[in-house]
Amino acid sequence: MRILQGTGAVSEREPGILTDESGMAGAWCDEACWPSSAAEAAEYVRSCASRSLPLTISGGRTGVVAGALPDGGAVLSTCLMKRIGPVEGATVAVEAGVTLEELWHRLSSDAPGLFFPPDPTETAASLGGMAATDASGSDSLLYGSTRRWVGSADLVLPDGSPVTIVRGDCAFGPGGTCRHPSLGTLALGEIPAHPNQKDAAGYALREGMDLLDLFLGSEGTLGLVTGLVLRLATSPRTIIDAVLFHPDPQGLWPLAGAVRQSGLVLRALEVMDRECLDFMRRDPLPGAVLPPEGASCAVMVRLESSGDAMTDSILGRLDDLATASGIPGGLVWAGFDGAWDSRMRSFRHSLPEMVNREISRLRLSVPGIRKYGSDSAVPPALAGDFHAGIRAIIDGAGLAGVVFGHAGQGHLHANVLPRGEAEMEASERCMQEIARLAVSMGGTVSAEHGLGRLKGGLLGMMHPPGVIASMTRLRRSLDPEGRFARAIRWA
Ligand SMILES: Cc1cc2nc3c(=O)[nH]c(=O)nc-3n(C[C@H](O)[C@H](O)[C@H](O)COP(=O)(O)OP(=O)(O)OC[C@H]3O[C@@H](n4cnc5c(N)ncnc54)[C@H](O)[C@@H]3O)c2cc1C
Repeated sequence: MRILQGTGAVSEREPGILTDESGMAGAWCDEACWPSSAAEAAEYVRSCASRSLPLTISGGRTGVVAGALPDGGAVLSTCLMKRIGPVEGATVAVEAGVTLEELWHRLSSDAPGLFFPPDPTETAASLGGMAATDASGSDSLLYGSTRRWVGSADLVLPDGSPVTIVRGDCAFGPGGTCRHPSLGTLALGEIPAHPNQKDAAGYALREGMDLLDLFLGSEGTLGLVTGLVLRLATSPRTIIDAVLFHPDPQGLWPLAGAVRQSGLVLRALEVMDRECLDFMRRDPLPGAVLPPEGASCAVMVRLESSGDAMTDSILGRLDDLATASGIPGGLVWAGFDGAWDSRMRSFRHSLPEMVNREISRLRLSVPGIRKYGSDSAVPPALAGDFHAGIRAIIDGAGLAGVVFGHAGQGHLHANVLPRGEAEMEASERCMQEIARLAVSMGGTVSAEHGLGRLKGGLLGMMHPPGVIASMTRLRRSLDPEGRFARAIRWA
């Protein structure tokens, strides 16, 4: 087990551990540790407990809300915990530091007929981090979030004791309590009145919930995930990816609505608004797949097919939908082989990559600048109204921003790019207004990224004090000193 002690030693020799994809500056810690097994991790957590040292857990550091960034204390990185067990039936055991890309690679050689459905775009995400954030992504429309695909988790609690929680073994009963041999009795307390379908804000408190689901999505506040048993799905024979580009920006939501109501079984239904396509064309990444001329906005769909006849039928239906929406033939892209999949992945990924590049450029002249990204969702039928409201907020503030995301789940990301220091405060206000708008529409302040250090303050917009008090009580019952993820605070 490697340990670095001293604030200067960590920042000089391992500066990477103080940064993540949120771009938040100012993280620091007193020491950092890289265990290479669950036993070493537990030993280090016990050492922190004996010294009352706060502990932040760091995975792949692809998180965008700074949950993995410490504010003093110790950091434990899972990046050396890389074991992958054999595929048994449709399950596989992994250590927390295995990345999604490494799992895909192993499955492609050992079990090509199976796959792990959650895909949060960033394949450098660790599986421990995905479990801790209950990551989802475009395909969660059909496959749900990571939670659905976790059968059990090996955890180390804040006092350093290891515990394994298996789905189905322990649930919160009708009185809202749950008794576990190692954890004692836990009580749910007040739970949200209208839980959202897709929601990553705070704990997923539900009547009758499985104990495992309390830990999944808890963002490292309740325990360290050291290992997971993942469930795998059968790979479909064919995956069809299509993009319907509308020539008229006003055509975006009628088209998305028509696709959503078409009866097609959609694996993903995504949108990019006009500002996204303009932004992608302005200063393209080298080798980027660009939107075609005449396109104003895009509806992207992914579907599964079991054979040629079904593939033909799906492609025919998509063509009909495009024609009925007034889209000319040149503005429809569709395909279904490996090369097409890479092309589509590159098209979708180039937008966030370009946003990040723009921020990095700006940071050269304004060091504290970061991207302001919203992650709110509303009931899917209201997605078009939500988009209009978001645009009114961004445009009304005179800011530049793109809006894209998971239309099938009413989940839209607004990325606001401040052009200088003067716009940073207005960008933050914009994020607050978008979150408030989502809550007023019955939605959530965070649908997939979690709250981390950047968004904990939004939880109070969404839940009454009693619900937040319940979450805090659960947190304190497992971590009385409040040492785990101390910098993640809710209000
Ligand atoms: C371009 C881009 C696109 C993205 N798209 C999506 C998307 O579509 N959907 C989505 O859900 N997310 C998305 N993300 C966010 C991110 O990829 C996910 O949140 C991912 O699950 C984080 O995993 P990680 O290993 O990088 O975790 P980190 O960033 O290292 O940590 C995230 C949080 O989990 C905690 N944590 C990490 N490992 C553990 C562990 N072993 N035990 C306990 N707690 C732990 C950390 O303390 C922190 O609070 C995107 C990010 C980027 C940069």
